[in-house]
Amino acid sequence: MTKAFFDSDADLALLAGRTVSIIGYGNQGRSQALNLRDSGVTVVVGNQRDASFDRAVADGFDVYDLGGAADRGDVVALLIPDEVMPALFVESVAPGLRDGDLLILASGYNLFYECLKVPANIDVAMVAPRMIGTGVRELFLSGKGFPSLLSVEQDYSGQAQARALAFAKGIGSTRAGVFLSSAEEETVCDLFNEHCGYIYELRRAYEVLVEAGYSPEAALLEFYVSGEEAELARAHAFMGLFHQLTLHSRTSQYGQLVTGKPTAEQDRAEKARLHGVIESIRGGTFAKAWATEQQTGLPTFRRAMREGLTHPMIAEERKLFAALGRPHGDAAVLQPPE
Ligand code: NDP
Repeated sequence: MTKAFFDSDADLALLAGRTVSIIGYGNQGRSQALNLRDSGVTVVVGNQRDASFDRAVADGFDVYDLGGAADRGDVVALLIPDEVMPALFVESVAPGLRDGDLLILASGYNLFYECLKVPANIDVAMVAPRMIGTGVRELFLSGKGFPSLLSVEQDYSGQAQARALAFAKGIGSTRAGVFLSSAEEETVCDLFNEHCGYIYELRRAYEVLVEAGYSPEAALLEFYVSGEEAELARAHAFMGLFHQLTLHSRTSQYGQLVTGKPTAEQDRAEKARLHGVIESIRGGTFAKAWATEQQTGLPTFRRAMREGLTHPMIAEERKLFAALGRPHGDAAVLQPPE
């Protein structure tokens, strides 16, 4: 099994007398900053001057612009979106790094695709939570923690792994388990999961039921609006993929195990498609296409988002949410500004 580290493998004393700079006070940044402070670590925050900056001040942190925070940190955690990271790193973060600092990323993307030129006299590690930001905080407060993937990408001090583990302990991750990985593995697994097409699979299943004459409400409740699927996803995580079948009737088990099983031929074809997805990620085709998309104003992205949001299923979803007295998500924030 892949090597895993827990609380007893990590020493917070390695952060004693050091300052951790959290660059970016968003989903991950806020939760990790609060957890580290609660673990007794000295934390400063770097953010652009906006609502997140004010929130960090209100949370009681010393807050600076990105460069000011990078300058003050012995450990600098880059918790900004992967797509803006390369430019912000050159402009604001790299000038503040000093001999022996530790740079931490929460994702392997810019490391695997070599988008950051980090000086050789800096330690570089990845501590990538397998948890959304709100969960990082809530699980810390509940004493449970959350798993992460860890890798050392540059070991200048000879202590990079021990220091990264101290950081992982500070954010609460060694309570649950920190698994030795690599930037490549984290990137490929993360992107692969996103590229599997779950949204479109659900939409296709919805379309088929409605085309067969059943009501949009029944279809939507069946697939996700009831929240039953969310409960089942929890059961997958905490009981096991097949063991959670005990929560289902024998009829349901038969349908899932037998009728729903793809034929060997379907399985081979789908696996071949998915291997193609991995090759596109691993070989850089996806990253190049995404970079071009961003440089040209996101035309395909905008089209796909518009198509998704204007699909008849979403109008039905909105009506059903209203009937359930549930606020619908804000579509306006999904379209990037022109
Ligand atoms: P967010 O989208 O929440 O953004 C984080 C911060 O980046 C915000 O404070 C935001 O500032 C700032 N920011 C965004 N754009 C700019 C810009 N152009 N200039 C300056 N600051 C900017 O990021 P996440 O927390 O989701 O992701 C951070 C890292 O964590 C990424 O590497 C991601 O891959 C990784 N990660 C994320 C997970 C998640 O669940 N979200 C899970 C595991 C890893 P403001 O708020 O002021 O706009």
